[in-house]
Amino acid sequence: MFQPKTIIEPFRVKVVEPLPLLDRVDRAEALQKADFNLFSVPAEKVTVDLMTDSGTSAMSQEQWAAIMRGDESYAGARSFFRFQKVLQNLTGMTHIIPTHQGRAAERILFHVAGGEGKKVPSNTHFDTTRANVENSGAEALDFVIPEGLDPQSIHPFKGNVDLVRLEQWLEVNHDDVPLFVLTVTNNSGGGQPVSLENMHGLKALLQKWEIPFFLDCARFAENAWFIHLREPGQGSRSPREISQEMFSLCDGAMMSAKKDGFGNIGGFLALKHDKWAMECRNMLILTEGFPTYGGLAGRDLDALAVGLEEVLDERYLAYRIASTEYVWRKLDEIGVPLLGPAGGHAIYLDGRRFLPAVPPGEFPGQSISVALYVEAGVRTCEIGTVMFGKTLPDGSQKPADMDLVRMAIPRRVYTQSHMDYVIEAVAYVWEGRHSMKGMKIRNEPPALRHFTCGFEPVGWNPLA
Ligand SMILES: *Cc1c(COP(=O)(O)O)cnc(C)c1O
Repeated sequence: MFQPKTIIEPFRVKVVEPLPLLDRVDRAEALQKADFNLFSVPAEKVTVDLMTDSGTSAMSQEQWAAIMRGDESYAGARSFFRFQKVLQNLTGMTHIIPTHQGRAAERILFHVAGGEGKKVPSNTHFDTTRANVENSGAEALDFVIPEGLDPQSIHPFKGNVDLVRLEQWLEVNHDDVPLFVLTVTNNSGGGQPVSLENMHGLKALLQKWEIPFFLDCARFAENAWFIHLREPGQGSRSPREISQEMFSLCDGAMMSAKKDGFGNIGGFLALKHDKWAMECRNMLILTEGFPTYGGLAGRDLDALAVGLEEVLDERYLAYRIASTEYVWRKLDEIGVPLLGPAGGHAIYLDGRRFLPAVPPGEFPGQSISVALYVEAGVRTCEIGTVMFGKTLPDGSQKPADMDLVRMAIPRRVYTQSHMDYVIEAVAYVWEGRHSMKGMKIRNEPPALRHFTCGFEPVGWNPLA
């Protein structure tokens, strides 16, 4: 029997979008104009865009067909009932509240459940989740296992919660905890999965104190696939069965459907109990829209209803995880320092080991991002001291825990030859690393500086 080693893309191309192919001089000019900040480089100057996997998926023919069936009625649109049915079936939850994206669901939830004096634990809060918890006046805390913070440790479920540490903390703090947020996969920790066993242990712990269990489920299908691949006894179960078990443990879920929903926009809040649903709907009407559209067009709801089913296709998930792993493995073979093992949606370069002579305060991740763009037109995202550090009163930098460069892979968008090009680009920059130095920030806004700050190279010219 023919047993191919090549895992092919389980789709073929029907509509094409030309890729910008620029020469180095054009890229150098674009980067100079952008003050070396890749968020300020226009997309038309980028050849392969790995800045994020959020909202960048290619939709399927079935999603585009569903868009034509979108019902734009203000109240009670057919599109909403199709969206609701898919999500009730997936999550087992009664209340499905659409929002325009993930952070809108977070804002509504923490407006209702957060507040001064409250403490919200997680494996690792995603940055918008943390910001919304804190904006409500509450404190956001992370309890990921120690392996999850070490780029070089190899563990099959690096997104797991440290249940021992959490239990000790809950003994003291349980009265102040309105809910627990489990992020699957653990985005800020490198797209690493959480095991079913860990979720069951967490559930038991939370039940003891009657603390609601919420899933931040932007990448629930990728997490389910990792469970299928890696967790003992799960290999014969489908991603749908595993996902349904994950949701069955929870009291609520929030999702950025711009990830595993295959949507270019969208999100939702799902709630099992009536307790918070009414309050959340009232807040939704105030800030997003009527409860049957919640900030989305009917056609968006229909596209998501289809996308949320398609993402559970085993052939898609096998290809998705294999393609990320393919890039990871090739780079690892060359010796490029990476966060391991391969995550679901992205490959992370370890900036501190890539450029050991550049201190965190000179942003090694930013130097690598700049070089990848100017040499090859590949756009990546620094996840390190630029994003999470800050300038101290004496002008020095408070370093982040890690200095990573994230190469996020948009869903169903790029082919293997694009990925081979990316591998070559990283290998080329890795070869030239000895002539690379650091960067400094020239001007920065008071908050979320990574989006808009300007840089300049220190002691080297990446554009030369
Ligand atoms: C993207 C993301 C969010 C925020 O969603 P947006 O749609 O960008 O508002 C929240 N949590 C996780 C885990 C995410 O990946």
